[in-house]
Amino acid sequence: MTTFDSLEHPAWCDPQQCGAADRSSYHRSAVHVIDSPARGGVSVAVQLACEGDEPLGDAPVTVGLTLTRGEYTSVEEYHLAYSTASGLQTLLDRLLQPAGQGLLNG
Ligand SMILES: [Zn+2]
Repeated sequence: MTTFDSLEHPAWCDPQQCGAADRSSYHRSAVHVIDSPARGGVSVAVQLACEGDEPLGDAPVTVGLTLTRGEYTSVEEYHLAYSTASGLQTLLDRLLQPAGQGLLNG
């Protein structure tokens, strides 16, 4: 029987979330949540994943993005390629920089 400890895992893999010990399943990170500051707003949950049956370093890492609006009224889940998520990070850094200078509201 394959166990968590008998496998090699990415540094970001969370033992509580990892399913790689199950055949054809995924390494998964912890789920990181950004709550909405406003009631009824959109909360964001992020989780990394990669296939467990491919060699580490070769398996593409995807970014699971789950958007939840309000009290479980609307949930959407997306899986972004690493390059897409990295591009989003760069774009948000650039767009949000003025917020740190007081140029944007909220
Ligand atoms: Zn794992």
